[in-house]
Amino acid sequence: MPELAEVELARRIWEPGIGQQIVAVDSHPRTRVYRDTPASIIESALSTTFIVSSRSHGKRILFSFGNGGSRKSTGTNPTTHLELHLGMAGRLFLAGHDYETTKHDHFILRTKKLSLVYSDYRQFGRVYLHDPCVDPWESLPVEVLDARFTLAGLRRLTIRRMRTTLKALLLDQTVFPGVGNWMADEICWRIPCHPGTRLQELNLARLRTVSRQVCRGALHHVADKNPPRDGTRGFSPGSYVEQVPPRRWLFQHRWKAGGSCPRCRSPLSRGTIATRTTAWCPTCQPEGKSQA
Ligand SMILES: [Zn+2]
Repeated sequence: MPELAEVELARRIWEPGIGQQIVAVDSHPRTRVYRDTPASIIESALSTTFIVSSRSHGKRILFSFGNGGSRKSTGTNPTTHLELHLGMAGRLFLAGHDYETTKHDHFILRTKKLSLVYSDYRQFGRVYLHDPCVDPWESLPVEVLDARFTLAGLRRLTIRRMRTTLKALLLDQTVFPGVGNWMADEICWRIPCHPGTRLQELNLARLRTVSRQVCRGALHHVADKNPPRDGTRGFSPGSYVEQVPPRRWLFQHRWKAGGSCPRCRSPLSRGTIATRTTAWCPTCQPEGKSQA
């Protein structure tokens, strides 16, 4: 499943549509991606509007629509907000205005110049509208790279959860929005700390510092180094990028047969922690070693 850096890269793929007017909305109305808002309601809400802005938060993408061009150039406030989740296999790409819909293209925004295509053959993704409001994301958890992601805030969020494991905490989207399996393993390895360590054994200041380093690095190596020069190739989990985090990251070794720790060369261990398949270095991250 795409994590925050892949989601941000996907958002950038559709960015060329900002400022353009929607002349048609195509959908496959009976697919599961419309389980929150019927396709017909999305179509009527977005037709003839302009794409005003977009942003990502964790694993979420938001495109906002209004009655004028970009907010920057016209001062128009968005009136409608469309949220996209990529699920397991959702893909965003750009095509020409006359692009012909294929079987798995469940949602297409058409402008005079472009088709913004959302394709999802597994249909675990979601496309839905928010009720009209200024900011539908106002109450979302603070992102890891936000200045408000403080040590005091992290302490508040974890104070009643001291028996939770580090891996489970990292996967909790209310605490680390956008962090998924590969980033969680990377953070544990960088601390370094066994992913099954209970929070009571953990140095939260170190966790905060390292999680911010990994989020910043992931955005740099995945979103920034893969500029969507050719949006027609789009974003597709697992096969979408030319550039990935470098070999000094655990990312490059965690699923390789015979994969070894890029720091000490020990063979990596694998197991299920917090219900997810997890990789760690038994030498750098021994079980039971306190980080407090
Ligand atoms: Zn190691």
